[in-house]
Amino acid sequence: MNGPEIFLTFSPELHLFLSADRLAGRTSLVTDGSSSLGHVVESLGVPLTEVGRLLVDGRAVPVSHVPRAGESVEVSAVARPQHVPGAPLRFLLDVHLGSLARRLRLLGVDAAYTNEDPGDPALAALSAQERRVLLSRDRGLLRRREIWAGAYVYSDRVEEQLRDVLGRFAPALAPWTRCTACNGPLTEADKDAVRDHLRHGTQRTYDVFAQCASCGRVYWRGAHHARLQAIVDDALRERAT
Ligand SMILES: [Zn+2]
Repeated sequence: MNGPEIFLTFSPELHLFLSADRLAGRTSLVTDGSSSLGHVVESLGVPLTEVGRLLVDGRAVPVSHVPRAGESVEVSAVARPQHVPGAPLRFLLDVHLGSLARRLRLLGVDAAYTNEDPGDPALAALSAQERRVLLSRDRGLLRRREIWAGAYVYSDRVEEQLRDVLGRFAPALAPWTRCTACNGPLTEADKDAVRDHLRHGTQRTYDVFAQCASCGRVYWRGAHHARLQAIVDDALRERAT
């Protein structure tokens, strides 16, 4: 290709997306002379969802900027916390992020997820339709033009995924208000009203405290409660610091 040569520098947070030969500080690239900077950055493997400010020779430009010969481009990572304007903050998680979805729900964060994969086009369409931030570790999915907003999830460990998403978007936390199974709102339940849902041992031992208004699931302080409470406590402590 015989187009203009440009020079790019990427923030360290974005290095994991780049091939090894482009990691050494400034990297040069010959473009086709008509593609936008957004397209150029994406073609190097960096999802635009992860890109913050773009500077060309020190001047901020939009992703639609078409680079000219000799320009130096600085590509920054998205700022944290990231404000997503235009709708209440809510999420949509791809099929690989079920554990993260349950933890977000535990904290009261609106997190849509199904464990049957609807496929990339349907997920992207749902993100657009419901204005949800699509969370994924799949760069191909995040490149889809239809998605309303998206974010790459950097870790494959759920504890770090949760810290990543909470730190990045700083969603309002309201622990124990949302069904971890279906994302529906929890309402206060009294033991008599939900007796049919409980096994006999549960009736004697545990205090029922909530029921899902959508799927009817009943919540009580059972054997796993301490573990869930620890997740809640960690998230609240981290938010306070
Ligand atoms: Zn439910």
